[in-house]
Amino acid sequence: MPRQHISRTQRLRVAATARNRCAYCHTAERVIGPFLEIDHIVPEAAGGTATDQNLTLACPLCNSHKSDRTHAVDPETGVLSPLFHPNGQVWHEHFEWTDKGAVVVGKTPVGRATVAALDLNHPDIVATRRLWIAVGWHPPVDDLRDAGGRAVNPSGA
Ligand SMILES: [Zn+2]
Repeated sequence: MPRQHISRTQRLRVAATARNRCAYCHTAERVIGPFLEIDHIVPEAAGGTATDQNLTLACPLCNSHKSDRTHAVDPETGVLSPLFHPNGQVWHEHFEWTDKGAVVVGKTPVGRATVAALDLNHPDIVATRRLWIAVGWHPPVDDLRDAGGRAVNPSGA
């Protein structure tokens, strides 16, 4: 199946919805420099289409680990779980930052399966996050608010 075309206008819309950051690990496009990649949340190989609801931004690390997967094993229970759906689920309900924002922890089966499958705490990116934290670029400011808008501190902060 040929890849579906994504126009510049649609990419801008998808990027705005994703707040110009990776929908999974929240790495900001302005921090890494190169454009983040368009991710088909349900992969084209599994019938996913190029609709705004099925598209998001992903960094090269997350996108390559996610590949054509939609599910992965929750390492805590050993049970297969859907991966996080950036346009259908709320990040804060499934993930939280620890270690001042250097390490992301899954709070639910979806979160844990996604952290493991996408290798969200690879030592290289954790080391890079520590540099971003040192200069105030990470974690994203809105990750320091809970669903009710109250300030939260990552444990270890
Ligand atoms: Zn990412």
